[in-house]
Amino acid sequence: MNAHFRPGRGELAHLERVSVDRSFHEILRSLEAIGAAGAALAVIRERVPDHEPEPAVFDVAVRFLTALNEGAPVEEALLCLQIRALALLGFAPTLDRCVQCGKMPAPGRSASFDAGRGGIVCRACGGGRLILSAGALRRWVAVQATSEFPQQPWPDGERQEIHDALAHLDAHHATVSVRERTSAASGRWEGRIS
Ligand SMILES: [Zn+2]
Repeated sequence: MNAHFRPGRGELAHLERVSVDRSFHEILRSLEAIGAAGAALAVIRERVPDHEPEPAVFDVAVRFLTALNEGAPVEEALLCLQIRALALLGFAPTLDRCVQCGKMPAPGRSASFDAGRGGIVCRACGGGRLILSAGALRRWVAVQATSEFPQQPWPDGERQEIHDALAHLDAHHATVSVRERTSAASGRWEGRIS
């Protein structure tokens, strides 16, 4: 879709004209796909700052909608979108070594994951609250390395582990951004008093 805006007052803009370049009408045949498309756009809206163009994130969103439209497995596609959006916005977790000491996990072994510390954490450094199996770790790294969306569902265990780790990252980032907003607001307030 092409939309032409003219700046208006404050946050509002005047919509001048809209044309549809491509439609994703197949998505409308599945409630699950409609829900995933909505969830994906919410993820992007929350993460991308207002008024800042993020063409790479936009491109991932278009690829995601195209994949859904072509019948890609819905949950896997949404997880891929989340992983890529995080990476493009600079929040990719560290998955190849302990975030604390840099020790690499033994090949083929699971690792524990701590969203607050931003990646996998070895046992000597206290471990993390979640476990990512070797398969889930490989899958995550592979998703970050390509722009393709999966054609086949992933094994249930891997999908669940990746889902849980992303949910923890999301909860952590949400807490941090509330804290940042709060401290920015209190900074402004103090500025006004003094
Ligand atoms: Zn460590």
